[in-house]
Amino acid sequence: MADHITFIGLGAMGYGMASNLRKKMDSSQTLFVYDVVRESCERFQGELGEYGPVEIVDSPAAGVDKSRTLVTIVPKSENVREVYLDGPGAVINATKGDRLVLECSTIDVQTTREVGAKVAEAGLGMYLDAPVSGGPIGAANGTLSFLLGQSDEDTATASRITQIVHMMANPGKVVFCGGLGTGLVAKICNNYLSFCNMLSIAESMSMGVRLGIDKHVLFKCISNSGGNSATFHNFQPCPGVIPHLPSSNRFKAGFRPFMIVKDLSLGVEAGAQAGVQTTMAEAALETYRKAMEDPRCRDRDATSVWLMINGLTDEDVEIS
Ligand code: NAD
Repeated sequence: MADHITFIGLGAMGYGMASNLRKKMDSSQTLFVYDVVRESCERFQGELGEYGPVEIVDSPAAGVDKSRTLVTIVPKSENVREVYLDGPGAVINATKGDRLVLECSTIDVQTTREVGAKVAEAGLGMYLDAPVSGGPIGAANGTLSFLLGQSDEDTATASRITQIVHMMANPGKVVFCGGLGTGLVAKICNNYLSFCNMLSIAESMSMGVRLGIDKHVLFKCISNSGGNSATFHNFQPCPGVIPHLPSSNRFKAGFRPFMIVKDLSLGVEAGAQAGVQTTMAEAALETYRKAMEDPRCRDRDATSVWLMINGLTDEDVEIS
């Protein structure tokens, strides 16, 4: 088995991740690609083929048979099952081998543990959950954060993993979290906090502005106080406070409300498994579910909950 790579799921994240792999892997190695939308594979082959061989395969197993590394990123748990377990073309039916398998989707911990165990039992290689952060821009720029469901105690294994991951990541933001599933545990906990926090920020900034304080002054006060956070700066929902963010650009599509509903639901599920009450996420989910249906928000960045909270229309969005 040569050092080829198979990549499955050429969507908003996967396309950029696979592009970086194709640009950085040796040009003698082949990148096999598979997506249920064949046009995505054809576009990828057309755009990246100049960097080295790109071969479109008809099933996950067809690529995996020829590869030493597999990277997958699809939307949901059920899609991960389709890729790995369902039907004759699934990964599970590939030949045995000493592979590295990186599953990068944001899904529930139980599914990744089950799929990972089956991949190991079938002798297909070493499977780990490897969820990412940084959005499509980070994926295209090769600067994603990775949370790896693996320990770095075995340096040979860790080095084999980082060799692949660093082609898609900011090396300073790659964390070995422990055993199988712990990358997703970290990802789900972080998203729980960020998305609950984002809604609190939207409500807090709305109330402040409506009670008469200048938004820039309020931003400064909170930045210097206990309410400050990375989310306060990177997902600030108040228009005109941070010029490059979606909120200052008519909430142009970024992380849409349905994605938050998916990730916060994973948090509620994880809480139930852990016996932890998830009062914050349950309350936040009510608003994000409304945003998912609201024509002002559903196709925009989720910070557009600002429009709902403030009863604004598209025309009211202040850009300054
Ligand atoms: P996307 O919908 O843009 O892309 C998913 C791709 O997977 C699509 O091309 C789709 O055709 C393909 N696909 C679906 N089922 C498949 C199957 N059975 N076999 C082969 N291909 C299949 O989604 P995305 O935004 O790239 O997100 C992917 C994952 O990454 C999700 O779990 C998401 O939560 C996570 N994520 C997304 C972002 C983001 O900002 N978009 C950031 C971090 C993590």
